[in-house]
Amino acid sequence: MALHLDSNKLVDLATAAAVVADGALVALGGGLSARLPMALVRELLRQGRRDLKMKVVITNAEPLFDHQRRTIAEAFQCPVRETYGMTELVAAASECPAGRLHQWPEIGWVEVLEDNQPVAKGDAGDFVCTGLLNPDMPLVRYRVGDRGRLSADDRRCACGRTLPSIQRVEGRSNDMLVTADGRSVYWLNPVFYDVPVREAQIIQDRLDHVRVRFVAASGFGREAGLCIVRRLQERLGPVVVSLEQIDELPRGPNGKFKAVICELMPSERHGAPCAPAGPRDSSRHAVSG
Ligand SMILES: [Zn+2]
Repeated sequence: MALHLDSNKLVDLATAAAVVADGALVALGGGLSARLPMALVRELLRQGRRDLKMKVVITNAEPLFDHQRRTIAEAFQCPVRETYGMTELVAAASECPAGRLHQWPEIGWVEVLEDNQPVAKGDAGDFVCTGLLNPDMPLVRYRVGDRGRLSADDRRCACGRTLPSIQRVEGRSNDMLVTADGRSVYWLNPVFYDVPVREAQIIQDRLDHVRVRFVAASGFGREAGLCIVRRLQERLGPVVVSLEQIDELPRGPNGKFKAVICELMPSERHGAPCAPAGPRDSSRHAVSG
């Protein structure tokens, strides 16, 4: 038996927990962000259940943070596998036991373009996909709105598959922030690596100001806050960072939350050349809380 948790209806956790605790369940999956398994874990721990096993938990819909993967894996004593896809079904991929995100080429063909030019495997760009499943409404070289990079490693995977793989999905194309010196910055997940937050959202409302709304996990303190500020300033330059601790992040109609929001006017973004999101020379920027 597998339980399909619906992101749009935050399920009755007690009911879901009872199903899990019954032991009949072997997998969690569906259009599932890590938020729901995480909520289920907390409910089961609240009930004192630490003896549960599942074969696999499959997540989708939102990037999976390392701490979420660890927490879910420990609670259910099983691997957590990430999947990638979209409603238009022009591309799909799923993580194998060796941890690679293998594409499903029969669903669609994935190209990665930067400034409308193909990039080398391993380099980041916009995903442009051609679907192979829908003869009634063919989507040819369709921009799905995600950015990422294909794996440059074409060797047979340790799992035995020879399917091409996605090295990393870096988020939505419009989820970029802009710096005062004109750079575009993507891929901000590492800001929260090993920081005790359950989930977080970065909002840029001015060129020199970003807000971080976050749900704290146990152990969150001043040092963790300073770490977030420092990592953002390493990437964005001398911006002012406001930390806002909240109970839950608001979801959109599709049940997802946006991890990064840029509220700048197009005129303010204009002319920002694309640049790697990695840390820049941080020695020039003082850390402040
Ligand atoms: Zn594999």
